[in-house]
Amino acid sequence: MKPATKFIHAGAHPDPSTGAIMTPVYQTSTYVQEAPGVNKGFEYARSQNPTRKALEEALAIIENGQFGLAFSSGVAATDAVIKLLSPGDEVICANDMYGGTYRLFTKVFERFGIIFTYVDTTHSENVGKAISSKTKLVWLETPTNPLMNITDIAAIAALTKPKNILLAVDNTFASPALQNPLDLGADIVMHSVTKYLGGHSDVIQGALVMNDADLREKLYFIQKSCGAVPGPMDCFLVLRGIKTLGVRMKAHCENGRIIANWLRQHPKVGKVYWPGFEDHPGYAVAKKQMKDFGGMISFELKDDSVEEARRVLSATHLFSLAESLGGVESLINHPASMTHASIPREERIKNGLSDSLIRLSVGIEDADDLVEDLAKAIG
Ligand SMILES: *Cc1c(COP(=O)(O)O)cnc(C)c1O
Repeated sequence: MKPATKFIHAGAHPDPSTGAIMTPVYQTSTYVQEAPGVNKGFEYARSQNPTRKALEEALAIIENGQFGLAFSSGVAATDAVIKLLSPGDEVICANDMYGGTYRLFTKVFERFGIIFTYVDTTHSENVGKAISSKTKLVWLETPTNPLMNITDIAAIAALTKPKNILLAVDNTFASPALQNPLDLGADIVMHSVTKYLGGHSDVIQGALVMNDADLREKLYFIQKSCGAVPGPMDCFLVLRGIKTLGVRMKAHCENGRIIANWLRQHPKVGKVYWPGFEDHPGYAVAKKQMKDFGGMISFELKDDSVEEARRVLSATHLFSLAESLGGVESLINHPASMTHASIPREERIKNGLSDSLIRLSVGIEDADDLVEDLAKAIG
């Protein structure tokens, strides 16, 4: 089945009691049992909920996986993966990743004795060199937030597979419409569902998708034991969001292409970060592992001051100044003071994230209006 069809039909079964075409919101905490231990597969809603079950089935199908698990946020999904580990275990991760992931690793899990090693994963040999006998997990994000760095998932999988090291990929930026890490050898795909999967800026949610049944059992055990599950209404909204993922991503990519090229020729704009440029260092890998290049773009201004960046950030009207991404409406963000403020300045600059960097989440409005908005703001 082609992706656009999957997005609409994945996990959708007419409701057994009424025939309702949409999975109902099963807003319940518990289920009446016929006799002690005799039930319909649903006992308590932290462990099982029919709306969540339909969504988890859909998540698995759209990522070409066997099993899906939904969590109350993207970071809760990441948290569940790290809870597979024990003190002394080592994780190799990208030195340029979502600020909240970095914060979770350094401020929470380091205290529990998990060791995190940060490397530039865009060169897979760096991961190879960092692997030790204690390495249990490699955590990747591609494209990265906000510098759009590209890591070759298949090349890293070739290093982790023979050593039985788990490979997890944060696939939030690409979405399942553009990239399917399990097909490239990853063991776990993580999503901040909040972004493109939800697609309408109205839900916080996370997801994990995997193929291995044992791994699914371990992660399900963590999901129900730690309890970071999404509510049924949020699952319903995401089931609805996924239906339009195909058409939305097509529009995000089209607008992204127009805006990236427009920014690049603008006399006041400096470096533009977008993996669809042929001279982007990750272009060849992106072309190989992604279906298109997405609607996330970052850029610097030639006047490289925080003041000039602040001026532009406050001057757009269609691009709303906000954190998050992946919704139908366009957003503009200042990573240094917003999404990535939790990373110490020194670390940020070292990793190429300058004070004046501006990140765009290009929405699906008419591209002419978006260009006009940016043109007026940049001046
Ligand atoms: C937003 C985001 C997260 C965290 O997800 P939440 O749903 O906000 O908890 C993780 N990774 C990336 C790439 C993100 O953009």
